[in-house]
Amino acid sequence: MKIETLAVHAGQEIDPTTGAVTPPIHLSTTFEREPDGDYPKGYIYARRDNPNRRSLEAGVAALEGGQASAAFASGSAATMAIFQSLMPGDHVVASADAYYGTMKLLRDLFGRWNVEAMFVDMAKLDTVKKALQPRTKLLWAETPSNPLLKIVDLRALSEIAHSAGALCVCDNTWTPIIQRPFDLGVDLIMHSSTKYFGGHCDVLGGIVAAKNDSEFFQRLRTIQHEGGAVPSPFDCWLVLRGIRTLPWRMRAHSENALSIATFLSEHTGVEKVHYPGLRSHSAHEIAMRQMSAFGGMLSFQVPGGSVEAMAVAARTKIFTRATSLGGVESLIEHRASIEGPGTQTPENLLRLSIGLEHADDLIEDLAQALA
Ligand code: PLP
Repeated sequence: MKIETLAVHAGQEIDPTTGAVTPPIHLSTTFEREPDGDYPKGYIYARRDNPNRRSLEAGVAALEGGQASAAFASGSAATMAIFQSLMPGDHVVASADAYYGTMKLLRDLFGRWNVEAMFVDMAKLDTVKKALQPRTKLLWAETPSNPLLKIVDLRALSEIAHSAGALCVCDNTWTPIIQRPFDLGVDLIMHSSTKYFGGHCDVLGGIVAAKNDSEFFQRLRTIQHEGGAVPSPFDCWLVLRGIRTLPWRMRAHSENALSIATFLSEHTGVEKVHYPGLRSHSAHEIAMRQMSAFGGMLSFQVPGGSVEAMAVAARTKIFTRATSLGGVESLIEHRASIEGPGTQTPENLLRLSIGLEHADDLIEDLAQALA
């Protein structure tokens, strides 16, 4: 099946009791036991499993081409469960340009649990190799990265991970559908489903998809069941609904973003544009190999510092000044001030989440804001 067809049907089935085409939302937290003590329908208690979560997990596993997936209450909860599945003393090599919250988790929280992390520029594979230690158990990539849109060669990275006996994980939040990490050798995929999966900025969620239902994934499953950082049935329902239109939305987000990146790259009031779809991007060739489109996220730098960048954001009329991404509406964000103390993000950088408005209107808005 082609991905558009799979996205419409994955995890979906006609409700056997009513014939409803749209799946019902099962709010019950508990499920009846047979007189003999059995649970023949497979559900006991909603933290452990419920019909909406099971449909979502089946849908995401099918969509990604993995054996299993586990849904969480947010992307950060999903990330956390991956790190919690490590053992004290394990070592992680992570992308230095990963989502700020992921780095914070590793640095501020897991350091105390004796899971040590080293942050490197994963675009430089030699640097990754040098960072490996005998106790390295996991390589964490995010590509394109946040907010500099750096590209990591996922095939080469997963080979490095496997030759060191480590797992390769990809945070694929920015590029669902258009980047297929399992085809490139990656073992686990993490998505903040708050973003493109949900697609409308109205639901928080996270999901981990596993290429193999391995022992490591079983550990993560236990953390999901017993730790309980799970999404509500309604949240699962919303994310599964979002998946139905995901391939078409990703195509439109990417088309719009390429038009806007091209416009910005030709604008004299712009210092630098970060978008892997541009030929000028240092890893455009790798992006062409491992992505079928380049996604809806980009960033650019204006001459000056934070004051000048904030002033451009303040003048936009269609773009909303807000954090997050992946919704139908376009957002503009001064990233350094959102990340706060310790940020490595340039002060003159603005990050754009390109929505599904017409590209001409977005370009006109940016043109007047940059004038
Ligand atoms: N990973 C990436 C790339 C993100 O952009 C985000 C959120 O912005 C997260 C992870 C964390 O997801 P959540 O906000 O759903 O916890």
